[in-house]
Amino acid sequence: MLDCVFCKIAAGELPATKIYEDAQFVAFLDIRPVQPGHVLIIPRSHYENLTATPAVIVGRFFQLAQKIASAVIQGTGADGCNMTMNNGRAAGQVVFHTHIHIIPRKDDDGLGTWPQLEYQGNAMQEVAENIKSALKVLDLRS
Ligand code: AMP
Ligand code: ZN
Repeated sequence: MLDCVFCKIAAGELPATKIYEDAQFVAFLDIRPVQPGHVLIIPRSHYENLTATPAVIVGRFFQLAQKIASAVIQGTGADGCNMTMNNGRAAGQVVFHTHIHIIPRKDDDGLGTWPQLEYQGNAMQEVAENIKSALKVLDLRS
């Protein structure tokens, strides 16, 4: 894909501090890390984000992410890690090529987690029903 930074990294046309690559995926350090050792993993093929990525690639992608997360934790001496995908502009995605962030975390790093809300009235049930309807369209039901 023309003008995609991560396609250029995958093709070796832009420099990156790579920590892993194979025929399908590349993992490299985020140039502006949340914490030192913050890794990004990308498929070499261009897909806009998770929902546009074929399931067969997603499966291998998450298997690789599990291993790289272990290595990031061990290699940085972290106590844990966040693995996050920003899917869509509203979620903070700025590079529209599927990627997952692996961010090493320390018990005392002070970064915290997400702010959380409380549901009012029957809002919790309503949103659950809406998601369940969408799952039926995807032919996945409990
Ligand atoms: P987002 O799309 O918000 O999930 O995040 C994209 C991430 O890519 C940001 O954290 C950037 O710091 C990172 N990034 C952008 N360009 C490069 C690059 N050339 N090399 C490494 N990381 C990059
Ligand atoms: Zn791309």
